[in-house]
This record gives sequence, structure tokens and C-alpha cells, in this order.
Amino acid sequence: MSKTKLDPQLKASAFQKALTQWYDEVAKDYPWRQTTDPWAILVSEIMLQQTQVATVLNKNFFTNFLAKFPTPQVIAVASEQEILSAWEGLGYYRRVRNLQKAAIAICENHAGKFPTDHAEILDLPGIGRYTAGAIASFAYDDAQPIVDANVARIFSRIYDFQERVDSSAGIKQLWSWAETLLDKKNPRSYNSALMELGQQVCTNKAPKCEQCVIQKFCKTKSPENLPIKKAAKKTVLVDEFALFCVCPDRGILLQQEASAERRAGMWKLPLRDHLQTEKLPLLNKSSYAITHHKVTLRVYQSQTATIPQHDNNENTIESWHPLSELADLPMPSPFRKVLNILLKAHF
Ligand code: SF4
Repeated sequence: MSKTKLDPQLKASAFQKALTQWYDEVAKDYPWRQTTDPWAILVSEIMLQQTQVATVLNKNFFTNFLAKFPTPQVIAVASEQEILSAWEGLGYYRRVRNLQKAAIAICENHAGKFPTDHAEILDLPGIGRYTAGAIASFAYDDAQPIVDANVARIFSRIYDFQERVDSSAGIKQLWSWAETLLDKKNPRSYNSALMELGQQVCTNKAPKCEQCVIQKFCKTKSPENLPIKKAAKKTVLVDEFALFCVCPDRGILLQQEASAERRAGMWKLPLRDHLQTEKLPLLNKSSYAITHHKVTLRVYQSQTATIPQHDNNENTIESWHPLSELADLPMPSPFRKVLNILLKAHF
């Protein structure tokens, strides 16, 4: 297929047709595409914001979460520990807190009925322009544009956009193209098709241009250089020193983030500093990534009589928990993983 210099703006209908016909043939049967329930679609959109489709599917996060919280009414009255536990393994726990805030607003301001109007959806807490457009188009087939990372990548390439897509001018330009190219007669399929193309064909690395159904609309000669973005933050190396301290009578000592940190409400092994742990036996060493941090987590054996002192700062609290209750406590995945290894080895 040869590339031409067609302007997609002039060929919007042909562009839409090529995309939606392709989508009809290849669309993946994701569970969130089998529903038009706006609550389920909101849950999927929030879940997929920072978690890969494969992860959400493989561990049934979407179906399990909806089985627990099938409506806004159910999650609106759930405790913090319940919502954090249901989100365990997905990370970025601010997302589930925002979901609950949106559910509470739906109950309080819309009598428990998910709003149908785009402006009212956009008005819900934690819902931005992309998510509002996705819910309006996927649930109601309302002609609303969307721009997420997939769409930004496709548009930057088809228009050979040599500006930063994350600048305010770049964002404005992307939304303007999204409005211009939107298939107003078929917004659900069209928006889904754009996202599918970004996931399957116009991928970040090694886009499959020779398989692309909109190749003739695409202006870029070097897709791998687009989109242009602000340089990513450098990875920061962080060390964490944790205690594994089990008492036959009291259970295991755990620490809870009580501050407004991203892990607020979550339980983990108690953290100390390097000097407090350097003489203790090392039980486990692992690493994990969070945002732009690469964390090395070392866990040390601590005797109950000689627990290195906690500084009792206002950001964390510590308490003992029976081992039988561990499964019900929300815990960040890296800590859950290491705890399971240690408990298996010691009990
Ligand atoms: S896959 Fe290639 S041809 Fe298709 S939109 Fe992306 S860069 Fe253009």
C-alpha cells in the first residue's frame, strides 16, 4: 500500500469507514464491551488507566470487582478497607477512592441513577474529559470524542505532529482533531476502533504500518519518533528496610499508612531505616517499580522482644494482627508477595 499525503480532515468519512470496518472484523470480545452499563464502563475505564488489559483480564479484576460492587449504591456505603481490598493487585489506589467518590455523587446528586448527559458525567468527581467521552460513547452511543494515549499516538502520526502532545497547545490540537474526525453516526464503534488500532497496530514500539487500514491517511515517515512528549522523569532508586516479626500470641506486626500518601489505608510490613536493621538476619530481598521509582525491598527477621523502635510519626500506625486475618487486610502487591513467601517458609 503506498502512502499519500491526504489530509485526514478532508477525508473524515473515508477514514471513519476504514477504521470501523476493520474494527468489526477484529474487535476483541472484552467483558467491558459486552455491556452498555455506564457504571461497568466507568469501572473498566478507571481500571485500565494504569493497568494493562492483559493483567485486568488474566486475574479477572474487572468481573470480580463488579461482582462485589455491581452498582454505585453498593460501593458508596463500603468501608475504606473493603474498597482497598477489592483493588488489591491493581495498584494506584487513588483510582478506587475516586470511583467511590463518583458513586457517592451519583447517589447524592442523581438519585443513584448514572447520569446520561455528557456534562453531568464530566462533573462527577475524578472523571476527566477522556473518561466522560468514553462513558458517553460506549454506554449511550453519544457522539463525544475521546483522546487517550492510544488516540494521541495515532493522531500525532497521521498528522505528523511535530509538537509536544502533552503541552496545552498539543492537547488542544488533539481534541480538535478528535472532534473533526469523530464519526457522529457511529461513535461507539468509531471510538472503540481508534483505541483498538492504538493497542494492536499503531503501537508505541514497532507500529505495524504495513497492516494498518488507515495507512493511506497517515503522513508520518517515522512513526517511531512520535508522539513527542516531555522527557520522562529519571528513575530514582529507593531502599526499603522492613521487619518480619511474628509473635505466637499476638500474630504479626504490621504498619498502616495513615497519611494522605498514595498507599493510605494499606497495610504492609513495618518499615525502619538502614541503621535499625543492618544487624538483623536478612530473610528476603526483592524489587518492584512504582511510578518512576525502583524500590529494593529487604525484609529482616525481628524478635518480638527487640523490635527496632518505631518513631511513632503521625503518618503511620502499627498494630498486631492474627495470621488468620491477613487475607482480609488490603496490602500492596510487593508486600503481599514477600509475606506469602515468608509465611510459607516459616509456618
Ligand atoms: S500504524 Fe503506521 S500507518 Fe497506521 S496510523 Fe500508525 S504510524 Fe500511521
